[in-house]
Amino acid sequence: MKILVLNAGSSSLKYQLIDTDNGTVIAKGLCERIGLDNPKLVYGAAGKDKIEKILDMKDHTAAIQYVLDILSDKEVGVVSSMSEIDAVGHRIVHGGEKFNKSVLITEEVLKDIEEISDLAPLHNPANLMGVRACQAIMPATPMVAVFDTAFHQTMPPKAFLYGLPYEAYEKLMVRRYGFHGTSHYYVSERASELLGENGKDAKIITCHLGNGSSITAVAGGKSVDTSMGLTPLEGVVMGTRSGDMDPAIVTYLMEKLDLDIKGINEYLNKKSGVAGVSGVSSDFRDLSKAAAECNERAKIALDMFAYRVKKYVGAYAAAMGGVDAIVFTAGVGENDDAVRAAVLEGLEYMGVEADFELNANCPRGKEVEISKSSSKVKVFVIPTDEEMVIARQTAELV
Ligand code: ADP
Repeated sequence: MKILVLNAGSSSLKYQLIDTDNGTVIAKGLCERIGLDNPKLVYGAAGKDKIEKILDMKDHTAAIQYVLDILSDKEVGVVSSMSEIDAVGHRIVHGGEKFNKSVLITEEVLKDIEEISDLAPLHNPANLMGVRACQAIMPATPMVAVFDTAFHQTMPPKAFLYGLPYEAYEKLMVRRYGFHGTSHYYVSERASELLGENGKDAKIITCHLGNGSSITAVAGGKSVDTSMGLTPLEGVVMGTRSGDMDPAIVTYLMEKLDLDIKGINEYLNKKSGVAGVSGVSSDFRDLSKAAAECNERAKIALDMFAYRVKKYVGAYAAAMGGVDAIVFTAGVGENDDAVRAAVLEGLEYMGVEADFELNANCPRGKEVEISKSSSKVKVFVIPTDEEMVIARQTAELV
């Protein structure tokens, strides 16, 4: 089947056309600055030159129309017409408690996603815009919603509840939901396959370390705990997000810095994290460079990041009563060997024997086991592939 995978943001749209019969990406790209000045379409198809065009995209409908036009273009396209696309899989950030798996999109599903939008005001409305735009252009094509939160719906109450009055959960939906679910699902499944015979029941800790980062405890293929919470702000310190902290800091800062709700949200989500601590950048490449040039705050930021990840690894090993494998994935997890080494150092007491030399020379974009053969706990670097999961689940449902 040919599945179009869409990930719509407020002013962007990432797309991939995937052939699920052979697991190949036929074409991919993105639209940027939708509704703003100089909107751009980027398009790449296997064996063809990458194309970048400034096009007039006043909204997501216009952007999707351009994507479909170029996919079916006589010269550079990869399908003869739009009807060759069997279905569309949409990434939806928040599925609340309503959605514990991917679903075929109906009007009722869209209403439910809209209701959950309070929990993800920046993401869900943008995701919905992508769905509506697609429906307007391809009304006969089936659409599927794949949720970032769905994989974590197996967490038990002791993991997902906060220590708040129960009514906050019952009436206001305040609980841990977790994010990056599609990625944690994909890499934990791959790790359990790599573990072989006993992989299905394995206890796996997956570290999705990117711009946003989250750690998940996966036991027997199910998420039993995860570091992100009601929103993607909780957990390890991130590129620009604070991660875990004393909640009293919120009111203290609001008072001292005279911040309103919007102001404090921006402070914690956009100005904090390793960028805020270092004053250098949220990008780990910039941080390593600055640290190598003896920038003390960049060093501290990197140390903090690895320390927080390490603490979650320890916590989740305790929570699951042991661990069989640790997985690193996403931009930082796949590419930054120094971060991986800092997380793994000193974990020998729990049976982790990392091969630090192999880790430092780990080939990019490949699945690699970076633990020694004698290591009780296996350590893997596994490139994530959220789009492939969305395409497969879409194909299965239609
Ligand atoms: P997102 O959360 O936006 O999907 P990614 O998983 O793509 O993010 O991760 C992006 C981050 O990965 C960048 O901000 C950068 O910090 C980090 N990164 C990417 N490539 C490298 C690299 N070669 N070395 C170190 N860090 C990298």
